[in-house]
Amino acid sequence: MSDIRSFEPPYARGGLNLADVALTPVPRPYGLAPSQFVAPLVARNPLASSHPGTQEIIAAHYVRKSYRKAAIVIPVLQGVELSINEGEFVSIIGPSGCGKSTLLHLLCTLDAPDSGEVCFEGHRIDNLPTAGRDILRNKYFGMVFQFYHLLPELTTLENVLAPAMIGEGVLGYLRRRREYRDRAREMLELVGLGHRLKHKPRELSGGEMQRTAIARALVSCPRVLLADEPTGNLDKHTGEEIMAILRRLNREQKLTIVMVTHDQHIADQADRTVTLIDGRVAAA
Ligand code: ADP
Ligand code: MG
Repeated sequence: MSDIRSFEPPYARGGLNLADVALTPVPRPYGLAPSQFVAPLVARNPLASSHPGTQEIIAAHYVRKSYRKAAIVIPVLQGVELSINEGEFVSIIGPSGCGKSTLLHLLCTLDAPDSGEVCFEGHRIDNLPTAGRDILRNKYFGMVFQFYHLLPELTTLENVLAPAMIGEGVLGYLRRRREYRDRAREMLELVGLGHRLKHKPRELSGGEMQRTAIARALVSCPRVLLADEPTGNLDKHTGEEIMAILRRLNREQKLTIVMVTHDQHIADQADRTVTLIDGRVAAA
């Protein structure tokens, strides 16, 4: 695990440019001093942080979110306050329907809060235009879902390469094809799937599909891995294998992980557990 080859993260040589994201620095006390946002990954060891555990990387501030169905308003998050440091492995636990997925979607800008702020590296991100949010998700956030969301017509290797193809565009991807394929193979080996490169999702077990999804989430050297019930569709033993991979990624690669689960045993395997109750974070 610890001998991952040096890989220059995607887009470092052009392609997408975070300057396009037009991030707004967040006034204190919300955010820490903005870091060099445009090129923070270039000089870094893939997946590694320089000062794990000491600096806030992602946060939600007084976040509220309701859904509306016709005339009915469903209040879900009612002032969530959450701060996650670089290098932490945090689980968010709560009963089904309490808003865990909603919160995760807000953290990674898949959805926007009604009020409050979401910050990444001291920059407000919830109010970014769509294109900026797309770049952030493609480049900085790795996402893993309960039902894997693999593309059925692509092989394991192609699925892992998909974020690079989307983020770089055809020409950019072709220019760095060999590098990307090496990186994708390496990530598949990391999760124990180096022998399944040409399999299609239907030829994989549930655990193998989730490993593929984890490799796909890692291919762009994300700063944060966000996992929504990553073991929720797996048997106990396979779920433990997935948890072992996540723990190793956190411990050995210092990858920041935010994992949502309704399962206390799974949640307890993180360094810190945050409980959602009545739309808020319960006091620790
Ligand atoms: P959890 O992940 O904790 O099970 P969710 O965040 O998925 O909970 O959902 C929280 C609540 O919001 C649930 O009551 C759910 O029915 C409702 N909800 C989620 N998404 C939507 C939506 N798109 N439209 C309306 N209601 C939704
Ligand atoms: Mg959910």
